[in-house]
Amino acid sequence: MFFTSTRSVQSVTSAAAITRGIAADGGLFVPCEFPQMTFEKLMALADMDYISRAKEVLKLYLTDYTDDELDYCVRGAYTNTFDNNDPAPLYAVNDNTQMLELWHGPTCAFKDMALQLLPFLLVKAANKTAPGRTIVILVATSGDTGKAALAGFADVPNTRIVVFFPENGVSDMQKLQMITQTGCNVSVCGIEGNFDDAQSGVKKIFTDDAIRSELDKKNMEFSSANSINFGRLVPQIVYYVSAACDLLKNGALKPGEKFNVAVPTGNFGDILAAYYAKQMGVPIDKLICASNRNKVLADFLATGVYDRNREFYTTSSPSMDILISSNLERMIFHAAGNDAGLTARLMKELAEKGRYELPKEVLAKLQSEFFGGYCDEKGTEETISELFKQYNYLADTHTAVGANVLDQYRKATGDNTLAVVASTASPYKFAASVLPALTGEAIPEDGFAQLEMLSRLSNTPIPAPLANLKGCEVLHKNCIEKENMAEFVLDFLK
Ligand SMILES: *Cc1c(COP(=O)(O)O)cnc(C)c1O
Repeated sequence: MFFTSTRSVQSVTSAAAITRGIAADGGLFVPCEFPQMTFEKLMALADMDYISRAKEVLKLYLTDYTDDELDYCVRGAYTNTFDNNDPAPLYAVNDNTQMLELWHGPTCAFKDMALQLLPFLLVKAANKTAPGRTIVILVATSGDTGKAALAGFADVPNTRIVVFFPENGVSDMQKLQMITQTGCNVSVCGIEGNFDDAQSGVKKIFTDDAIRSELDKKNMEFSSANSINFGRLVPQIVYYVSAACDLLKNGALKPGEKFNVAVPTGNFGDILAAYYAKQMGVPIDKLICASNRNKVLADFLATGVYDRNREFYTTSSPSMDILISSNLERMIFHAAGNDAGLTARLMKELAEKGRYELPKEVLAKLQSEFFGGYCDEKGTEETISELFKQYNYLADTHTAVGANVLDQYRKATGDNTLAVVASTASPYKFAASVLPALTGEAIPEDGFAQLEMLSRLSNTPIPAPLANLKGCEVLHKNCIEKENMAEFVLDFLK
């Protein structure tokens, strides 16, 4: 299996794609074809545990890793790191809706699914393509990626990691998780700006030749732990395959039937993984793309015009407060029949004008696969309240956006097919926003008092990784202008 850039025809191994993170032309690495998984194979996986399922899926894409290497990587990532050693359980809220809970890992959000595995994949990849070099991971985060990447890479030999987050654009709990991070190879820094500023700043550093050669002299090399790295995507494909296996196994899905998938979306990585699973033969039908008030994707799927020139809102689902959705580039490339020329042209327009328009036939292809919708702040709160009152299910703000747009899809189309909603974060990570949906009582200021209150009202336990933050020392106090990100990185690497 070879990988190409979305912006020019290339042919690189998976190890090279994972080590580099982003192609030199600014494009993203994508597989040249989709490996296939037969129904018989799916049924065989249904009898295996998550680790074995993960290995079988990874094997299809990462063909330059040996069996032993993949075995080592998946065992390291998923053994004793997730509650009950069950990384992606399904929870049936009603007859035709199941929550795929992806937040039972060390940082309580779905980013752990990929970021527990990525360090293992990356270290193996670097051994193949850049032996002896130190890999410097740069991360821009809207809140959850940062902590998950830190948890995955802390004290991993031959790696350093720098995380940039929008100083005023993450939840208190998310911020506390990051600024208390220990590890001899980690650095965390707030920036004056939003996630898009952090992401653009990081991309600029990646493609700056002067900085690259500076690192080269130190025998160092940049890579990315953001979902622009293919090594982030492939572990996410696994849980959609795994969900299909579980549905077949428990009889909710019959042979020959398909299910829909609803995903609260920001950078388009999670839902793209569902699209990849579908291309491989997993019986997925409609992909429901749910945005919050920053509804650039919903507008795009309706009109074919991507326009980031609009007001940016800070919402109760901060991990989706994004106006430049990186992984959409991969989707456009595939929908256009792997057309790198077209993708490069559209991305250039996006960089220069903040806007582009899809050719009609590419839009038609996207609309045949995806339904786009959005949910505002009021809808988010109402959905959390409804899910709790009707089904005794406690959803976080992001998951609620997904459930709300699924509901809109069902009302608009009458399609009540079994649907899996990606449940992307523990409600405890966003307690301040979840609590008002459950109670009229006054909400305490203190974050830990909020956790206690949520536990009391919902009769569910506080996740240990969040409870344990209490009393942790704040180790990272930097906050810089976005223009100074490169300087900050070079300073850390001195
Ligand atoms: C990152 C994140 C999302 C959005 O996922 P994308 O892959 O960026 O679309 C949704 N919910 C939560 C809780 C997240 O952390």
